[in-house]
Amino acid sequence: KRKTAINMVDLVSGILKQDITALSRAITLIESRNPKHLQQANTIINNCLPHANKSIRIGITGVPGVGKSTFIEVFGKYLTSVGKRVAVLAIDPSSSITKGSILGDKTRMEDLVKDQNAFIRPSASGENLGGVARKTRESVILCEAAGFDVIIIETVGVGQSETTVHSMVDFFLLLKLAGAGDDLQGIKRGIIEMADAIAINKADGDNYKSAKLAQVEFNRALHLYPKKPSNWQPKVSICSAINNTGIEAIWAQILAYWEITSKNNYFNAKRIEQNKNWLIQTIEGQLKANFFNKTQVKKELENQLELIENNKTSPFTAADYLLSLKF
Ligand code: GDP
Repeated sequence: KRKTAINMVDLVSGILKQDITALSRAITLIESRNPKHLQQANTIINNCLPHANKSIRIGITGVPGVGKSTFIEVFGKYLTSVGKRVAVLAIDPSSSITKGSILGDKTRMEDLVKDQNAFIRPSASGENLGGVARKTRESVILCEAAGFDVIIIETVGVGQSETTVHSMVDFFLLLKLAGAGDDLQGIKRGIIEMADAIAINKADGDNYKSAKLAQVEFNRALHLYPKKPSNWQPKVSICSAINNTGIEAIWAQILAYWEITSKNNYFNAKRIEQNKNWLIQTIEGQLKANFFNKTQVKKELENQLELIENNKTSPFTAADYLLSLKF
């Protein structure tokens, strides 16, 4: 027992000393599904929390192929060149289903990986979105305690993962392509409304003109939305991750956002709101896990599922029964 305690102290002090190995090991503990590690993970998080909260958290999303990893690589390199320390985390909604991943394999961002002031962590896998989100959230705290100034959370524009990322970042950047035909979908699903900035990537070569046109169109569309409570008017820009153009301007937007929302206190209020939501979500997650992990529930659930299969009960009767079990 004593040994474990010392290890945790070592890990935490390693994180605070900005030791990347300690940070990686701590994140691995957090991602572990072994119940024995839960207590250790909580100890680490609680000891890191007082040192967290000092970064800017940026969510980056976009459909597969839009250029997220290329963009994050040049964006990250730019940030380290101006003296920032950058952590990149990913939320990959595909991992639980396919066991493969759309994001997060290690061959991506080869230059940034080698950068001493950057830390790249592929997404926790094999979990539901809620589980991955929770672990990402906790990883953010550890990265902040390890002195990272900018935390980038990347996700792919499918399913619910953008909403999840949006709920844990300060600034939400949507990468788009000119004339990709998914514009209407983005509007329908409210993704554009979530964006604090839209960057139209691949504004190079033959694409340049259409990117410029798309910029005008999106700007017009964004002005139709009601003003955000942040008082920030979302910006549309163009960039080329491959040619490394327009990258600095996007960082300038983020700084401007930070300045405005710090002054009007929206920045802080939003984080507090996010923390409140995380409390509720954590409780919901815990209640669910506690319930479904009970041996008796597992057994009775099997029976009830079978009854449903044979049309012998209704889902509502079965749920009432399972929820009324006494432990
Ligand atoms: P992701 O799936 O969103 O992470 O996209 P990737 O970063 O893997 O990029 C997908 C493809 O688009 C790759 O072949 C990149 O080389 C290419 N790409 C990324 N950014 C640009 C860009 O700014 N201009 C052009 N022309 N191609 C790009």
